Parts: sequence; C-alpha cells; structure tokens
Amino acid sequence: MPSAAHQLRDPVTGPSLSLAPIERHQTRPAAPAEPLRNVLLAALPHEEQVALERSLEWMVLQSDTLLHEPGAPIEHVYFPEGALVAFSLDGYDEPLTVGDDGLVGVSALLSAPCSPGSAVVRIPGPAARIGTDALIRARSELPALHAVLEAHVHDCLLQLARSATCSRFHHTRPRLAALLLRLREQAGTSRLPLTHERLARILGVARRASVTDAMAVFRAQELIEISRGEVVIRDADGLAELACPCHERLPSRVA
Ligand SMILES: [Zn+2]
Repeated sequence: MPSAAHQLRDPVTGPSLSLAPIERHQTRPAAPAEPLRNVLLAALPHEEQVALERSLEWMVLQSDTLLHEPGAPIEHVYFPEGALVAFSLDGYDEPLTVGDDGLVGVSALLSAPCSPGSAVVRIPGPAARIGTDALIRARSELPALHAVLEAHVHDCLLQLARSATCSRFHHTRPRLAALLLRLREQAGTSRLPLTHERLARILGVARRASVTDAMAVFRAQELIEISRGEVVIRDADGLAELACPCHERLPSRVA
C-alpha cells in the first residue's frame, strides 16, 4: 500500500477516499505475455524492459486511492496500464489525467522534493510502480529509459500549454467531446465510470449544468450512453466530428 493511501480526505470532493487496499501481483495482472500497454515502458528496448522489470511491482489500483498528496515525498512512480489517475494542483479541478500514455509522479524526475499536488485513481485498473530512488538509478544506467523519460517531460509541457489554450478558447461542448475521446484512449476502454460532476472538474468548468447539457446532445445523437455514474462511448468517430482538436495526440518524442 502506498504511504499516502491512509489519507481519507479526497482533495477534490471531500472525505470520500477509499481505504481499498492495492491488490499486488508478482507479474502483470492481465495477460502477462501481451505487449506492455504503457507507452513509456513499451518504448524501451527488450533488454531495458528486462533490466527494469526487477524493480517494478505490479498491482491493480482501486478507485479513489490517493497515490500522491501535496507536500509529501513522491516515494513511488506509477505507470498505468488501464488505470486512470487525475492530478490536481489546487484541490478543486483535475485538469491533468494520466493513463497508458504516461506516468504518475513526473515531478520526481525533476528532483522535486515532494509532490506539488494530489494524484487520485479515478478509473481502477492495472499499473506498475517503481520506487523513485530505483527509477532515478535506472535512468542513469539505461540510456533508452533516460531518453524516454526526458521526452515524456517535454510532452507534458506541450500538453499543459495546449490544455491552457483549450480552456481559454474552446467552448464546453467541443471540449467535452475531446475530453471523452482522450479519457477513452488513456484508459483503453469506452466505458468511463465518471459522473457529470467529475467530468466538469476535469474540464474546469464552473457550471456542471453545461456538461449535463452537452451530454444530453451527445446522447440524443447516439454518440454516448449514460447510466448511473458511467458514460459509454458508442460512436467515437461521431464524437470526434464535434470535438475540438485537443484530443489528438501531439507528436511525441517518445518513439
Ligand atoms: Zn480544445
């Protein structure tokens, strides 16, 4: 269990964080013979994957588990393989989400002494984690890992810049369509167990009703289905026609 998992207070919604233990596995919990889903791990040559494997710990992350808390040291870095983790700087909005496309704890790569914000699991799923010290050591010994991590930090900066532009210039409906497509890609599933309120917090819109209105439009066009606490994407292509371009991946330096 990560050191921060004892915290009960959800930094965004209040005292609702789960104490559900992290389920640990000796190997990847799902289909260990299949290629790695996390793009950073998958980008490494086989020999570096083998070298890193000794330090990786596989687990299933449970919903609402706090992985990093503001002001606390980042003891582990997580590589999601199906889980979706939201990062919040101010304890209100959750503008940054990480799935198969990245890692949780990027500040540790920049020698930050502690986490600047909170990282909470929003969609449960598998992940690999590694001790921060072990990752820093491995980075100095494995040249491809060093390059992949540097490229990822660069990609994060670009994503942040685009996120700022998106929230300033694009309207809620195309932003929501883009967000749903991004989350679908990050979590690797069309079933997103996220409420309207959660989506509004990720979008950073003050009026949850604007998200509800946009969802009603998408549902009327049979692009999505909505059930209690879950959005199911039925027509990603149709959703893409309504989305602002911000869901498309920026050209990444990660091979
Ligand atoms: Zn946008």
